[in-house]
Amino acid sequence: MSSKRTAGAVVIGGGAVGTAVACYLAMGGVDVTLVERGEFAWGTSRRCEGHVVTYDTPPGDYSVFCKTGQNLFYEAQKFLPVDFEFTPEGIGLLVDDESHLETVKENYEGKKKEGYDVTLWDRDELRHREPNIGDKVLACLNFNNDCTLNPMRLCFGLAKHAEANGATILSRTQVTSLRTENGRVSGVETDKGFIATKNVILASGVWTPQLGAMLGVNIPIRPRQGHILVTERVKGLLSKAYVEYGYLLTKHGLKRENVTPDMDKFGVAFVIEPSSAGTVLVGSSRRFVGMDIRPHPAVMRAVAERGNHFFPTLSDMRLLRCYAGVRPATSDELPIISTTHVPGLFVGAGHEGLGISLSLITGKIMSELVRGETPFIDTSYMSIDRFGFNPPALPVGETSA
Ligand SMILES: Cc1cc2nc3c(=O)[nH]c(=O)nc-3n(C[C@H](O)[C@H](O)[C@H](O)COP(=O)(O)OP(=O)(O)OC[C@H]3O[C@@H](n4cnc5c(N)ncnc54)[C@H](O)[C@@H]3O)c2cc1C
Repeated sequence: MSSKRTAGAVVIGGGAVGTAVACYLAMGGVDVTLVERGEFAWGTSRRCEGHVVTYDTPPGDYSVFCKTGQNLFYEAQKFLPVDFEFTPEGIGLLVDDESHLETVKENYEGKKKEGYDVTLWDRDELRHREPNIGDKVLACLNFNNDCTLNPMRLCFGLAKHAEANGATILSRTQVTSLRTENGRVSGVETDKGFIATKNVILASGVWTPQLGAMLGVNIPIRPRQGHILVTERVKGLLSKAYVEYGYLLTKHGLKRENVTPDMDKFGVAFVIEPSSAGTVLVGSSRRFVGMDIRPHPAVMRAVAERGNHFFPTLSDMRLLRCYAGVRPATSDELPIISTTHVPGLFVGAGHEGLGISLSLITGKIMSELVRGETPFIDTSYMSIDRFGFNPPALPVGETSA
């Protein structure tokens, strides 16, 4: 990189969120530079499953937000230059506990009222559609517009589209410090040189707090570890992706009944996704153990055991590998999509288990914020100000370039 560069905006982080932000900024006519210290999807976005979901939010504003975010994938599928293995086959929420049925039925009615395409299969219908399902599974609530995709291909496609719309992509480039002048952002120092800019967007997943700290912005995001097992190629095991209802309890840190002590301790909840390569991804777990991404045999065992409960024939299959990643978690489980009290500094991070699902909507909103526009959908409740850790941010219009 030459010693002197300028940009209308610099996005830090080449995961699903950062590449989406860069893509929408470039499409919005902003001269944007994306800086990633590794390659695309170097962080959590390569260590996850690729579900784009609406099943895990109770009816309300955030549910509508997730649905709006999901619709953008149906649009992006038409314009992104890379096949990101978008599979709009729906995702089923499996219920194996009688005591959850009532809540699931209420959720079904609430989501229907919000205009969701949902269907409820009883035990017989589920067995008819998924002959390999375990005996203990009682029902399945299907979110027919939920979809799966390949997150690495998504990041690559978004970055390519950003580039085609004029963005500069700097991979293998690490941001080492952020600069201000007269109180507002003035540039980004990298290990390959300085970039002068008035707008910096922190889309750096679990690393966002350390970047915010460079300008005295306190960003409360913690890494929350999760494991995924990958099986050998299998045929005919299942027809689409599923998640157990207990996943919602685990996500919200609630106590689980009818699981082993290890499953409870490691926050294990069943998630399954057939990949287009023919392998099957089986997850997952949730716990706070710092930045540790080493797969742990005890967690892997608990995930496998939970998998066998829902699809018993999984126990006959060989595992190819296991990986772990760290979700960027906030204390209230909402992302931070926000201006900050430092003019020109924006945050798009903290999506926990929804960073793939909400990547495009975050990109679109961030593009609007940077350009000084009011977001097309209410995001005030995702402001960093909600934590009360920093002085309040300036109104949106005052932070634009
Ligand atoms: C097991 C598991 C399963 C999951 N399943 C799903 C799912 O099905 N659906 C879903 O929606 N979400 C899922 N998630 C969550 C999702 O993976 C994350 O929310 C998402 O990947 C976060 O994306 P991001 O772009 O914010 O962060 P990241 O992908 O971590 O990207 C941040 C980037 O910033 C870069 N960076 C950091 N510091 C610097 C620096 N100083 N200079 C330059 N670059 C820097 C990093 O290298 C990294 O590439 C899952 C997560 C896990 C762990």
